Amino acid sequence: MIRKSVVLAAYLLILLNAFSQLKSPEEFLGYKIGTRFTPHWKLVNYFQYVAASESRSVKLQQYGETNEHRPLYLSFISSEENISNLENIRLNNLRLASLAKDKVIPSENTPALVWLSYNVHGNETSSSEASMLTLFALADPKNSQTKEWLKNTVVIIDPCVNPDGRDRYVNWFNSIVGNNYNPRLDAREHREPWPGGRTNHYNFDLNRDWAWQTQIETQQRMLVYNQWLPQVHVDYHEQGINQPYYFAPAAQPYHEAITQWQRDFQVTIGKNHAKYFDKNGWLYFTKEIFDLFYPSYGDTYPVYNGAIGMTYEQGGGGAGGLAADTDEGDTLTLYDRAIHHYTTSLSTIEIASINAGTLVKEFRKYFNNSVSGLVGDYKTYVVKNKPNDTERIRSLMNLLDKNGIQYGTGTGSGRGFNYHTAKEETFDISPGDLIINVAQPKATMIKVLFEPHSKLVDSITYDITAWSLPYVYGITAFASKERIKSNATISSPTPQNNSSEAYGYVISWQGVSSVKTVAQLMKQGIKLRFAEMPFEINGRHFPRGSVVVLKKGNEKFSNNLGLLVGKTCDSNKIMMNAVNTGMVDKGFDFGSSKVHPLKAPRVAMLTGEGVGPNSAGEVWFFFEQQLNYPITLINADDFSRAAWGKIDVLILPDGNYKFLQEKASNDQFVLWIRNGGRVVALENATLQLSKQDWTAIRLKKDDDKDTATKKNPYISLLTFENREKDGLPTTTPGSIYKVDVDNTHPLMYGYPNYYYTLKMDNNVYDFIKEGGWNTGVIKKDNQVAGFVGYKLKTKLKDGLLFGVQDLGRGSISYLSDDVLFRNFWENGKLMFCNAVFLVGQ
Ligand SMILES: [Zn+2]
Repeated sequence: MIRKSVVLAAYLLILLNAFSQLKSPEEFLGYKIGTRFTPHWKLVNYFQYVAASESRSVKLQQYGETNEHRPLYLSFISSEENISNLENIRLNNLRLASLAKDKVIPSENTPALVWLSYNVHGNETSSSEASMLTLFALADPKNSQTKEWLKNTVVIIDPCVNPDGRDRYVNWFNSIVGNNYNPRLDAREHREPWPGGRTNHYNFDLNRDWAWQTQIETQQRMLVYNQWLPQVHVDYHEQGINQPYYFAPAAQPYHEAITQWQRDFQVTIGKNHAKYFDKNGWLYFTKEIFDLFYPSYGDTYPVYNGAIGMTYEQGGGGAGGLAADTDEGDTLTLYDRAIHHYTTSLSTIEIASINAGTLVKEFRKYFNNSVSGLVGDYKTYVVKNKPNDTERIRSLMNLLDKNGIQYGTGTGSGRGFNYHTAKEETFDISPGDLIINVAQPKATMIKVLFEPHSKLVDSITYDITAWSLPYVYGITAFASKERIKSNATISSPTPQNNSSEAYGYVISWQGVSSVKTVAQLMKQGIKLRFAEMPFEINGRHFPRGSVVVLKKGNEKFSNNLGLLVGKTCDSNKIMMNAVNTGMVDKGFDFGSSKVHPLKAPRVAMLTGEGVGPNSAGEVWFFFEQQLNYPITLINADDFSRAAWGKIDVLILPDGNYKFLQEKASNDQFVLWIRNGGRVVALENATLQLSKQDWTAIRLKKDDDKDTATKKNPYISLLTFENREKDGLPTTTPGSIYKVDVDNTHPLMYGYPNYYYTLKMDNNVYDFIKEGGWNTGVIKKDNQVAGFVGYKLKTKLKDGLLFGVQDLGRGSISYLSDDVLFRNFWENGKLMFCNAVFLVGQ
């Protein structure tokens, strides 16, 4: 009996031991990391397994879901003591940042927070594989080294920021790879099909979206990010297969708002990584290519929010497959790639743990400086609440809320930089104007987002160089060096709509919410009209483009019309303006021929191979997620198969269109336009149309090309070492220009007589002499912010950027700049809507 129980006890002990042994990714998955691609659901399974097995040191939180309904997770790993105290650690950290609502004094004796974000670009796959190795190393009870680090460090792992993109790549790869991988680069497994796995469902680059938060992955993640605000954030990436590993310190330009401590600690981290890379004989580089400027990246955004934010880049993304031949004659495997990312992951945690005390202290100092008003020269930003800017200001407030930026309102006056005139002026403040005081926790974000001119110490940058919000939103604003008091906080006003029956209802044409309202009325089959001229009725002024809903034509809704219109307006916070007469006080009556029927257009867009995925994605996202209006996506290759009789408006996103080169399809296209078809051509689609003999638009020739050289003949003598900068004189990496607008044309309804455009290419067009309208032109010296090469400066003037050509009964809207850029260029959206809904009606 005794013997039996001893055996049983021994057996139980063995069982318990086997049970308590945490499985490595290899043991759990049944294959070694890097020998196969792990689909997202299996990645999630492993994270769930580890959290369930080591529940006292690992906590898993689902923070959201993607467009394709994949779950988004964060894993919190630390000592048992820290994990049991996690909520207090979080609250204390917010108190260190002066962002907690209570007045409790924070403790500096608290763990440092290290947040690791893997696989934001879906086809840069090695980092999610590495995330499992990192998790295991941290959670494994037998790993005494990581246990030591986790005493003063909480690690937050996002194993996959972009699951839809990752699975798009992984599912494709697994479906075409043979029994064995083929490292030859001409093998199809290295040639991803359109649109590639880099982006999310709507083909948005999630590593350009941190500040704007237009995509649901970002929105859900940033909600949690801003509740935690880590001291260290790493964004894992991949680059070309021949590139050595890249880690901090980052390249110039650094934004001037980045503190000395943030610069120094990047070096400390880089040196720690170098130690491991040197030991293994691995190649790496620092201080090149990846700069810290544009605020919407996974490195800069954390930096502007008090953290050490970094990008790490491994060679291999996209073309890497499971293994790839490199130029040096090596074979780069997924295993190598994952091990490198795993190594920097642990090295980051190690160095953060060694410096945890300083990280926390410096984090607190960063925010203390912010609330004390020590950040930036401008102390207050004031946004004027003009009558036609209600929607623009509402979207701005939404952006400020998303980033935790506080604002209020007040009265009085001030003096500051006027964004429109670029002059120092005095201004009055009225109730309803937004006052944003820089002395608050998010001071750096305010400086970066609002400052009229960001200083560039180096002109080679990876992204656009200007994003100052007053230009992005097209609002009237002042940047003041005075500290202006603001009183109460304000919230966006909700109009009170009265759904009583009336002769008709008027909707002012102001922005995306107006358009969305109108689009929803169209979808319900309600007949609409729009006014070509401004008018006044019941003492209210309505601008051009305002939409009128009349009983006449809508008889089938009998007495429900007011209710329907009211509900739709309410859901979009739009005034419905009931009127009891068709006779206006000023302008043209509703029965006039200057008030046009507004028909619901059947909209299609060309997409697929040859079309820019980002540009097509911007349009697709805008229709589905912002307007909620149907759009048919047609592959450009199927041009001749499209049901042309069922298309009223065709959108050509940025792209390269083969159908224009083939006579039969080109003729078919022109005939469709002549019969009433309306085209919206974006960016390079405009350039390609300018080469057609039937269009009225031509690229402007560069007459002044040699002026700069004439002034200084030595300017063209280039040195070899500066060869990367040689292209700069003729480029703009994204800067802001003021465009003069003809707002009497439907393309520009709802705009003042100017528009700020983000110029990202060198194209400007001749004025249209006949058969069209010069609705948006650029005059000389109209660049307002950002970097532009000196040669290009002489070219970008006296030309057209936005125009409309009439052709037969149809029309073509030429929008040569991206008016929907990353869905954050708020003020361009209305122009796009005008092109789709109003032009040619
Ligand atoms: Zn990347």
